[in-house]
Amino acid sequence: MLSTMQDVPLTVTRILKHGMTIHGRSQVTTWTGEEEPQRRTFADVGERATRLANALRDELGVDGDQRVATLMWNNAEHVEAYLAIPSMGAVLHPLNLRLPPEQLVWIVNHAADRVVIANGSLLPLLAPLLPHLKTVEHVVVSGPGDRSLLDGCAPRVHEYEELIADRPTTYAWPELDERSAAAMCYTSGTTGDPKGVVYSHRSIYLHSMQVNMAESMGLNDKDTTLVVVPQFHVMAWGLPHATFMTGINMLMPDRFLQPAPLAEMIEREKPTHAAAVPTIWQGLLAEVTANPRDLSSMASVTIGGAACPPALMEAYDKLGVRLCHAWGMTETSPLGTMAHPPAGLTPEEEWPYRVTQGRFPAGVEARLIGPGGEVLPWDGESAGELEVRGPWIAGAYYGGAAGEDFRPDDKFSEDGWLKTGDIGVISTDGFLTLTDRAKDVIKSGGEWISSVELENALMAHPDVAEAAVVAVPDDRWSERPLATVVLKEGATADYEELRAFLAGKIAKWQLPERWAMIPAVPKTSVGKFDKKVIRKQYADGELDVTKF
Ligand code: AMP
Repeated sequence: MLSTMQDVPLTVTRILKHGMTIHGRSQVTTWTGEEEPQRRTFADVGERATRLANALRDELGVDGDQRVATLMWNNAEHVEAYLAIPSMGAVLHPLNLRLPPEQLVWIVNHAADRVVIANGSLLPLLAPLLPHLKTVEHVVVSGPGDRSLLDGCAPRVHEYEELIADRPTTYAWPELDERSAAAMCYTSGTTGDPKGVVYSHRSIYLHSMQVNMAESMGLNDKDTTLVVVPQFHVMAWGLPHATFMTGINMLMPDRFLQPAPLAEMIEREKPTHAAAVPTIWQGLLAEVTANPRDLSSMASVTIGGAACPPALMEAYDKLGVRLCHAWGMTETSPLGTMAHPPAGLTPEEEWPYRVTQGRFPAGVEARLIGPGGEVLPWDGESAGELEVRGPWIAGAYYGGAAGEDFRPDDKFSEDGWLKTGDIGVISTDGFLTLTDRAKDVIKSGGEWISSVELENALMAHPDVAEAAVVAVPDDRWSERPLATVVLKEGATADYEELRAFLAGKIAKWQLPERWAMIPAVPKTSVGKFDKKVIRKQYADGELDVTKF
């Protein structure tokens, strides 16, 4: 027997209509670097999104599921694109502006993007790529920047504001199939070509609801979220759509992502929440240590994308800012876990829960798979590869305009689960602790050493700004840890001191004997430690390694 419920498709269009009416007074504030930021209400943003949809259809001829890419910072216009493009039935494709040019070209051609909406300040990046972009017919430019860089380029060039001016403020939004494509992001592609993940209207709708639940980010229209995580990094972790559901105000940093302007915008605009990877919070901490600012409005911060060192959490606790650890991937939309401790605990009892990656919401099923393919118990001890499934988890990668979607064996199990490539344990009460990426685990004499545990312990030393640990070949043990350390300015700790600091916290046989001081840990395009670069530097003899 079927239910008697209405079958209303879960679409971004519904999120847009809801946000611009019910939460019309909520605001998107974009930092301009000038005295006054740009402020727009959700009603304005929704109306401008509607005019953008009209312009894309009537002037640029965007039709069906054509791809419209964005090469933009986090700002109100980018939110307008987030709402307009999926709602009209086209597919939004945010481009990672920190990727090497050849990867960007590959991605745009693979997705067959027909339009690129770009911020003017990014034209120096876009212009040289245009001759190689086979499918791009239109470039729309928004915000300050030198337009002459596009002189003579093949695609037609449009001014964003002129394009949307005088367009109708209504649109006959199509009734879309909730399973159809709404947006796509490519994985960072550490090995092989980047892989496209295509989000559906349904997955975005359900994911947005989860983001808004108290067990996740749990915000409402009294809150303002500072969206530092770029809109090209897994859809800004779902925030631009989730905010339109519940009227959460957005503070968008645009291109002002350095610690000093971030500290200034927090002190002035007083966001109650923020989201970003650990390196952003490390940088901000160093900034406010040198030049104190009041960050205490940020009652909660969602930190994820890479393991959060417990020492960082402690440092922010002292500033009145609570970091809440989250885990996710491009393939998981990204919300996979969040580390809110169970109710009724004292701060001391909460701590062991806060330093985990967190627990799974109802929409994410999880299992751990052991080396022999067996399903492992949730006992807090059995370590295996995490596999997940759920309505906002990818079941395949995009095959490209001409190809078929594909499911590589190392990413998808035969029975349809996503193989995350993350190794960890799950406690009896469902909290996930990740010890490593499968490819980062250090296999020493048949035993595993967690690079993350060593890094966390090192980053708790007061002299250490950053530390990354990688596996390097070893004649006797097959692999051993190499600790690369960035000292804080003026700090003097040496290897003996750091090794002594680790002893007692880390089993003796796991202590690194190879050490290198480096000026900064190399970072990926989304600000995570790039361990493959360190491994290569070591292999190429570029690191000054001390062994003792
Ligand atoms: P991406 O798709 O580029 O965002 O990368 C996803 C990967 O980032 C995951 O598979 C994890 O390896 C890593 N990651 C994300 N969040 C965390 C976290 N809280 N702790 C440790 N690793 C994380």
